[in-house]
Amino acid sequence: MQGSAQLTLRLYWQHIKRYKWLFSIIVFTAVVAVCFSLTVPYFLKLFVDILSTRHLSDSVNEALFKLVWFIFLVEIGQWIFWRVNNLVADYVQPRVAANIVNDSFGYLHQHSYDFFNNEFAGSLVKKVNRLAYSFLGLSSKLYWQVIPLVVRMVVIFMVLMWIQPTIGFAMLIWSALYIILSYFFSLYKLKFDLARAAQDSKVSGVLADTITNNINIKLFSTLPFEIKSLKTVTDEWRRRMQVSWSLGTVIEGIQGLLMIGFEVVVLYFSIQFWKKGILTVGDIVWIQAYLLDLFRKLWDFGKMIREAYEELANAEEMTIILHQKHEVKDKAHAKTMRVTEGGIVFKGVQFSYTPNNPVIEGLNLKIEPSEKVALIGPSGGGKSTITKLLMRFYNLESGEILLDGQSIAQVTQDSLRSSISFVPQNPILFHRSLMENIRYGQLNANDEAVFTAAKLAHAHEFIQKFPQKYNTFVGERGVKLSGGERQRIAIARAILSDATILVLDEATSALDSESELLIQEALKNLMKNKTTIVIAHRLSTIMKMDRILVVQEGKIAEEGSHADLIQKNTGLYKKLWDLQVGGYVVN
Ligand code: ADP
Repeated sequence: MQGSAQLTLRLYWQHIKRYKWLFSIIVFTAVVAVCFSLTVPYFLKLFVDILSTRHLSDSVNEALFKLVWFIFLVEIGQWIFWRVNNLVADYVQPRVAANIVNDSFGYLHQHSYDFFNNEFAGSLVKKVNRLAYSFLGLSSKLYWQVIPLVVRMVVIFMVLMWIQPTIGFAMLIWSALYIILSYFFSLYKLKFDLARAAQDSKVSGVLADTITNNINIKLFSTLPFEIKSLKTVTDEWRRRMQVSWSLGTVIEGIQGLLMIGFEVVVLYFSIQFWKKGILTVGDIVWIQAYLLDLFRKLWDFGKMIREAYEELANAEEMTIILHQKHEVKDKAHAKTMRVTEGGIVFKGVQFSYTPNNPVIEGLNLKIEPSEKVALIGPSGGGKSTITKLLMRFYNLESGEILLDGQSIAQVTQDSLRSSISFVPQNPILFHRSLMENIRYGQLNANDEAVFTAAKLAHAHEFIQKFPQKYNTFVGERGVKLSGGERQRIAIARAILSDATILVLDEATSALDSESELLIQEALKNLMKNKTTIVIAHRLSTIMKMDRILVVQEGKIAEEGSHADLIQKNTGLYKKLWDLQVGGYVVN
């Protein structure tokens, strides 16, 4: 934790540095404002001394009003410095928080495909927010609690030493004891806070996962099961929260006792010194005013330390992600890939998701420009993995993939992926308008180009039927559209992006024959003049391909045209074909 707390603070410091002058103003105004406030008890002391020792006269009256005037001036001085302090903080704090979110967003999205497979979307959102909110919490504590406390302690200690060294020393020893105790208790409580924060994320993760899977919960009538599963997680969360809060209560109890004890001791000494004529009534008022002020601030100190650690603990998860190296990175000075022909070569490609469990083994494959290739074979054979490797969602263990003779590991990922249009099996859309979703294929395309692409993809027809037409919002992840409609939007997007290479993971969901026909038409438009790899599930697609590759256990078991492969009576393709014709779907 210490390590990552330091990393979090360093990260915040990087952001603060961008506004260092404004931060200096915040600190300076806070120091001056506190100094002003510390002069008030002194004027009160003079006030009380006059009231308790002198009889009413014109000069006494004048002296009292002069003091009121001084108090007014220092209060106004304090007021002005705090207002400047707040105005500058109002300006700079939201800026830094927004920068933290923006920077986290940029870094987060460069994490690999695999990273996002392993993280819950909901808890990632929470982690980014927490990092920004923790900055706001910690920095406000610094300007409005730590700095005022330190200035107060130094000034009060010096003044007390000057009024009466015994009380000054007593204060020094007591404050040191108080601060050390608060600090170490807070540190002890920290591990319980961390455990609570971890469980907090778990609760959010389960909530997000079940909300995403709400359709499964309905379909399988598993709500009672899910409620029970959530309860085990929230039970642990409740337990950890209670432990951490109870420890907080114990710490506050100890702090309270320390304050009561010290107050009694100071009052006792004050009486003794007053009796000996060492302290005046005004001095006692002065000391008491400082003491009460100090107690108030120190009471917050214990709580502040705990909150600061809680904030650091909350920020920790995101800090770790921001310091986690990107799994798939562009090489230094990586070139821009230019794909004009669309030739694809896999050379001795070796890959596994988990060590010693190879998924693709020594794959050699050459796909000619504009060739249309279907990948078929049993589920889990490695078809999707081949397409993911082509898009460099993962690094290869060994071997090489070349597009038009350029190795995909040597070029920027952006340029590689813009050379490929990918239409996934189950396209996910942004909760934005249909227009924006299609335009995502090419952000600077004009409306006409979007309409043309939508027409070619046979999406235009159904879009026209919506009351809002192209301005229709599609719901989170595109849930308001049917599977076939979503596929056609994804095809329109791919048509618009017009990349030389096309990768298509066909939808397996049973489409009605009209949708099927429209999608086939749309695909025909999309595939024109493009090198195409289709993970095929439908007979109609397979037959139209130039070449069929049967992928099994990470290898190409058979290859050839439909006519060639169907001849091999003992071949896997023939077996799968017969199964599908017999009513089963090849997957
Ligand atoms: P196909 O597309 O032919 O159905 P895949 O390429 O999806 O096959 O999967 C090939 C193998 O890799 C399977 O055994 C699958 O379980 C495994 N696999 C796929 N994705 C991952 C992943 N992200 N992590 C670990 N194993 C995976």
